[in-house]
Formats: sequence, structure tokens, C-alpha cells
Amino acid sequence: MNKWLETVEPLVYESRIKVPYTWSVGEVGSRFLIELRDHKKIYGTRCPKCNIVYLPPRKTCSQCFFNLDEWVEVGPQGTLITYTLVHYESSMMPMKSPFAYGIILLDKANTGLVHLLDEVKSEEIKTGMRVEPVFKDERTGDIMDIRYFRPVR
Ligand SMILES: [Zn+2]
Repeated sequence: MNKWLETVEPLVYESRIKVPYTWSVGEVGSRFLIELRDHKKIYGTRCPKCNIVYLPPRKTCSQCFFNLDEWVEVGPQGTLITYTLVHYESSMMPMKSPFAYGIILLDKANTGLVHLLDEVKSEEIKTGMRVEPVFKDERTGDIMDIRYFRPVR
């Protein structure tokens, strides 16, 4: 325990910071998000040397540092690799709790995508289950153009 806690009552100041900002998602992020927005398609990039398909797509292979310019359509279905259940409320959360985040290995991809799971009861979520994306009707070029993944029925 920190020594100062023995003599000082720890106060917590609550406030909100709203800082509008914009940033470029770059060449790779732009293409990835435009495909989600305009075609409801999910693309990764493939390293021809390592034969790894990265999702989200990367510009450079993390194994051999090769510049990646081969785009591969992945999914749309995939396998749930792992997940976590969120049981607390916060204004920062994308959904009302309880809800689940999963790491989803889309078909033809070699790395997992973190996203929300829905249309499934928390006790029914299992690693290895097959899932598919549910896209928004009005898409803006955002990872949340995929509303969530749900079990394949
Ligand atoms: Zn590589």
C-alpha cells in the first residue's frame, strides 16, 4: 500500500473531458473502412513470403517486414477464438451491460479481429462457435459499420 494513503484521505475528482479530434487512418485503414462502408466486405492484407493474412489489414508484415499490397477478402463468417463478458456500466461502453467482446478469426484470415458479440445469451457464448457480422444500414467508414457479430444460424 502507498504510504501516503495512511495519512491522507484519497479523493477522486470526477469530470468529463470532451476533446474533438480527427486523424487520418492512412492508406491501409482507408481502404479497409471504405470496403466496409461501400460494399459490406471485409479485407485483410496477405504477406506473400509468410502466407499470413492480417486482419485488420497491415501495411507491413510483422514477421518479415515485407510491404503488403495484396488484399484478400476474408469472412464474412468466422470462428470465435475467445471472449470476455462486460458486467459494468460506463458511458464509454458501446452497449448496455452485460455484453461481450470477442476475438474473431474470420475465414481466410490468420489474425483475429476484436469486436462485439450480440444476438446471443452470455451463457450460450462458446469459443469455437461460428459467427457472422451484422452491418449497419447507414455506414460511415467506421469499424462500427459492423454493428456486432452474431452466431451463424
Ligand atoms: Zn511476412
